[in-house]
Amino acid sequence: MDAATIALVLIPLAILQFGLMFYALYDLFAEDRRVRGDSKIMWALIIAFASGIGPLVYFFVGRDDSRGAVTGNVPAAPTDSIARILATWPALPETADAAISTTGLSKRYGGGVVALDRLNLTVPSGSIFGFLGPNGAGKTTTLRLLTGLASATDGTGSVAGVKIGGTGGDLARNIGYLDQDPRFYGWMRGRELLNMVGQLHGLHGAALKQRVGEVLEIVGLTDAAHRRIGGYSGGMRQRLGIGQALINQPRVLFLDEPVSSLDPEGRRDVLEIISRLRGTATVFMSTHILNDVERVCDRVAILNFGHLVVEGPIAELLDRYAQPIYELQPEPQQPGSIDRLAAALRGQAWAHEVKSTPDTVRVFVDDPTVAGPAIMPLVVASGVSLVRYERVRPSLEDIFLRLVAESGPPIAPPVTVPVWGLDASGRR
Ligand code: ADP
Repeated sequence: MDAATIALVLIPLAILQFGLMFYALYDLFAEDRRVRGDSKIMWALIIAFASGIGPLVYFFVGRDDSRGAVTGNVPAAPTDSIARILATWPALPETADAAISTTGLSKRYGGGVVALDRLNLTVPSGSIFGFLGPNGAGKTTTLRLLTGLASATDGTGSVAGVKIGGTGGDLARNIGYLDQDPRFYGWMRGRELLNMVGQLHGLHGAALKQRVGEVLEIVGLTDAAHRRIGGYSGGMRQRLGIGQALINQPRVLFLDEPVSSLDPEGRRDVLEIISRLRGTATVFMSTHILNDVERVCDRVAILNFGHLVVEGPIAELLDRYAQPIYELQPEPQQPGSIDRLAAALRGQAWAHEVKSTPDTVRVFVDDPTVAGPAIMPLVVASGVSLVRYERVRPSLEDIFLRLVAESGPPIAPPVTVPVWGLDASGRR
C-alpha cells in the first residue's frame, strides 16, 4: 500500500475521531449534562486519551439521562431555599389598588353566545383567588380577556394597574399566564424552554441564567432541567408551565385550570407552589376542583352561564351559606337501609334536600331547631340502626353545587361579600 492510499484511509478516520472527541467534550461540559460518577474531569480524560474508543464509551456509558425521575414527579424543592429566592424578587407594592378590577366586562360570540355578561369583579392585591364555575361558565373567556388574548365586546377592566385591551406591552410585562392545555416541544429541555421565554421577555446573559435558575428552583425542576420535556410527567409539565409564566416576575399570575388534569401527587405539588407565591404575586386561578380551592385560595368567585353568582372570602361564604347538614350512616349488613332512611327523610317540610351515597344519607335542612328533634324518631320508625349520626358543616363544594343549581340562565343580581377596608372599586 502506498503512502497516498494510507493517507486516504487514515485522514477520514482521524477527522472522525477528532470530530467525535470534540463533540463528546462539548456535550460533556454543557451546563445541564449529568454524568455517571459525577466527575466531568474523569470523563474528559477518558474521552481524550482512551485511544479511539473514549468518545464512544462516554456516549454509551457516561451520559446519565436517568436522573430527575423519568416516570414520577421530581419532589418539590425545600421551602427555605425558595423562600430565600422569593425574598429577593420584587414584593407586591404596598397599595390598596386592586390587582384586577372589571366593570361590566362582557364577551359575546357569533350565534348569540354570551360567554361573559357584565362582570364586575375586584381582586385584592396579594390574594390567591379561585375563579370557579362549571364547564362553559365563562372562566376561560374571562382569563383571555384579562390577559389581553381576546377583546371584550363591552365593559372595561384593569390588571396590575394596566388597562386591558391596550396595544402596548405593558400588560404582558406585568402578568404571567398558564393556558388550560399548555403544549411544549417534547424535544426541548426544560431549561431551554425557560431560556427561550426569558429571552422573549428581554432577559439575556447572566440575568437570564440567574432568573431561569431561580424559576427552576421555585417550581422544583432544577434536577430535571437538563431532561427533554417529552419525558416529563404531567405534574412536571404543569410546573414547567408555571415556571414559564413566572419568568418575568409577574405581579399577577393567571392560571387556567392548573390542576384539573393532574394526579393527586401532581396536584399537591402545583398547589404547594401556588401557595408559596403568596406575597410575591396575586394569583388568579380558574378551576372546578373545589377541595383544592379550599386548600390554597383566600377568596373565590363563582361564575355560571357567564354571570357572577357570588364573590368573597371563602370563610365568609361558608358562614353566609352555612346550611346545616345531618349525616346518617347505617350499620352495615342491613339490606335496603340507605333507601329506607332516604325515603323516611325525603318529603319532610324541613328537609331542603336528601342525598345518599352507598353508605351514608345526608339531609340538608333549613332550620336545625326544627330538624334536629325530628330526625331520630323518623330513623327509629324506619327500623334502621345507625353507626353514626352527626351534624356537619357544609363544604365549599356543597355551597358551590347549591348556588350553581339555584342560578339558572335568568340571573339574580350578584351577591358580593365586602372586603374589609376596600370599597366597591377596590380602594381603601
Ligand atoms: P369555561 O372556561 O368556564 O369552561 P368558556 O369561557 O370556555 O367556559 O366558554 C364559555 C361559553 O362561551 C361556552 O358556552 C363556550 O361554548 C362559548 N365559547 C367559548 N369560546 C368560544 C368561541 N371562540 N366561539 C364561540 N363560542 C365560544
